[in-house]
Amino acid sequence: MLLVTLIGCVSAPETGRKQFIVVPESQMRALGAQTFVQMKQQKPQVQNQRLVQDVTAIGRRIAKVADENYDWEFAVFRDDDMVNAFCLPGGKVGVYTGMLPVTETNAGLAAVMAHEVAHATLRHGAERMSQSLVSQLGLSLAALSLENNEYRNLIMAALGVGVQVGIALPYSRLQEEEADKVGLEYMAQAGYDPEAAVKLWQRMAQRSSGAPPEFLSTHPNPSSRVKYLRKLVPQMRAIYQSAEQVETRPLDYPER
Ligand SMILES: [Zn+2]
Repeated sequence: MLLVTLIGCVSAPETGRKQFIVVPESQMRALGAQTFVQMKQQKPQVQNQRLVQDVTAIGRRIAKVADENYDWEFAVFRDDDMVNAFCLPGGKVGVYTGMLPVTETNAGLAAVMAHEVAHATLRHGAERMSQSLVSQLGLSLAALSLENNEYRNLIMAALGVGVQVGIALPYSRLQEEEADKVGLEYMAQAGYDPEAAVKLWQRMAQRSSGAPPEFLSTHPNPSSRVKYLRKLVPQMRAIYQSAEQVETRPLDYPER
């Protein structure tokens, strides 16, 4: 166990925080790619090419500042009831149409996508998977595959797409703060107004009463997040102002 711990401690490049990770990056990327293939097979994708192009354009701008070594891919899934988005390890990004009325604008969607991308580049999925491997004795690294039904739900939950498979595994508070900060940096560098992230989480907070959207079962506490983001906005605004700015405009497509 000591050996595993020594091998397992790595520093996240973006934060410098020591992380416990025993699942190799190559394996995480393979799992991310496989999961994305499955999701594309199972979920209908949006036909409106203008919408697909807009979402892809936002994703590409974020990808460029986040990690050029990822094999980026973007998909827009047609499901108006699913208020959710995700980024799998290796850069496979999915947005559900149900997310669009909440994001409202290209900058709002950039805030969500940049946050999800930050979870991936910060290797939060690998961290969650490593914790599961250690806490559930008997789970072995070699058996981590989507074909193994026993592990499938665990893997998907660790990657942040667990709600659809019946397990919602919220990110830890520390991981959320990291993704909020790095995500805000990404969106500002990509040319989107960081203030849009604050407005987005304010709208999320309003939705958290009643039937909360799927996104909130893995991303709880929208109102404390608003406070945290507000504090960061001034320094991020400086980054945004020196970036090639993108005009904020509505992302509204009745035909999907
Ligand atoms: Zn998050």
